[in-house]
Amino acid sequence: MSDIRFDEKVVIITGAGNGLGRAYALEFAKRGARVVVNDLGGSGSGEGASSSAAAKVVAEIQAFGGDAVANCDSVEDGEKIVQTAIDNYDGVDIVINNAGILRDSSFAKMQDKDWELIYKVHVDGACKVTKAAWPYMLKQGFGRIIFTTSAAGIYGNFGQANYSSAKSALIGLGRTLAIEGGRKNILSNVIAPIAGSRLTETIWPEEILKATSPDFIVPLVVKLCAQESSENGSVIEAGAGWFSKVRYQRTQGLALGTDSPITAEQIAQQWHKVCDFTDADVAESIVDTFNAVSKYVGIDLLNA
Ligand code: NAD
Repeated sequence: MSDIRFDEKVVIITGAGNGLGRAYALEFAKRGARVVVNDLGGSGSGEGASSSAAAKVVAEIQAFGGDAVANCDSVEDGEKIVQTAIDNYDGVDIVINNAGILRDSSFAKMQDKDWELIYKVHVDGACKVTKAAWPYMLKQGFGRIIFTTSAAGIYGNFGQANYSSAKSALIGLGRTLAIEGGRKNILSNVIAPIAGSRLTETIWPEEILKATSPDFIVPLVVKLCAQESSENGSVIEAGAGWFSKVRYQRTQGLALGTDSPITAEQIAQQWHKVCDFTDADVAESIVDTFNAVSKYVGIDLLNA
């Protein structure tokens, strides 16, 4: 197989001053891309700002002859980041939504500002950058977009009500844009990385941090952003050299019909049928939900 190259391609990578984003920026530049290295340069919980994080990565890229420009805006001002790409490189082909912070606390103790900032950075930020890039991608009939969720966003996690729900929102956003952009060759995928970085260095021991180097995530993002890739709307978990696609399964379920009123007791009595995964269906789109209702209840929602 020939090398995956990004010559002439313009790549925006948010939160590229550290961790995963920095590793993506270096690799895309090595593979010929022109890289917008965005980073607000604040703390892991979103306090402060500094231009040095992005500038440092740009200097690293330029040192090996790569092409990169720094942008220090918050992803909350996504249009400014895209403007940097337009001003310097006259376009945008790939957006890697990676910027992120943590503000963990139990739900009982969570402050409004912890909820709001997490949503602003993760959800509004990814939406704003992508929204500003979208018209360029539509016009050129090419785009590759990565959203960064988390295992917490897929499964939930104690102490991360704000983060996990924001990360879940990115799954919905990524999968919907995959549907809306697919026909225009704008492909969106969602990754759930496990990586040693400043977000995890206080919780994990050294050996785990080493085994989960961001370098083990980079090849997945390169593959998904390749011109040749057709993967779209997928959620991929990855870490320490492991890559795995996630999908939904649905039980055959309990179909009581609509001929007579249904009681809670009836459902309680047959709850095992709601939960029995024997012969489970794989559900890949909203059409599968409509089909299931049509199949079990006899109402044709698809042609309603
Ligand atoms: P990191 O802290 O090393 O890097 C995140 C970068 O985002 C930082 O450089 C930070 O300055 C930047 N950033 C934060 N807010 C920003 C804003 N408003 N605008 C622009 N830049 C901003 O963390 P990381 O582990 O590399 O995380 C990257 C992404 O991966 C995050 O979205 C994180 O939630 C996600 N993630 C990481 C892990 C993991 O195990 N490390 C697991 C699941 C998800």
